[in-house]
Amino acid sequence: MTDTIEARCEAKGLRMTEQRRVIAQVLESSSDHPDVEELYARATARDPRISIATVYRTVKLFEESGIIDRLEFGDGRARYEDAERDHHDHLIDMNSGEVIEFVDPEIEALQEKIAEKLGYRLKGHKLELYGVPIKKR
Ligand SMILES: [Zn+2]
Repeated sequence: MTDTIEARCEAKGLRMTEQRRVIAQVLESSSDHPDVEELYARATARDPRISIATVYRTVKLFEESGIIDRLEFGDGRARYEDAERDHHDHLIDMNSGEVIEFVDPEIEALQEKIAEKLGYRLKGHKLELYGVPIKKR
């Protein structure tokens, strides 16, 4: 999938106002997992007229349309990322809150094996690891 978030919004028939386009572009250019506050900061850097309420409504709309994924990393803040990003899992640093993305072929294969053993063909999964850095001596 190479379509931009904006193009996918249009394909889904969402009415794309100028402000929604800015928010779509901000999400498109984000390679991390911003929450609404962070998206608001990035969006207002491009268009200071955008309100936080607009950001809230827009991400909700994009999420309900399946264009972005909502993530929860245990701190009660919703974060967002492009739903079409290549599959990956997340490791959350419990000290700094930093989110590390990873893909592990063994985990992928193991999950498929477990699903199969239970009589299912795996269609997707979510995996979040929580940890603290190992102190180096
Ligand atoms: Zn991610």
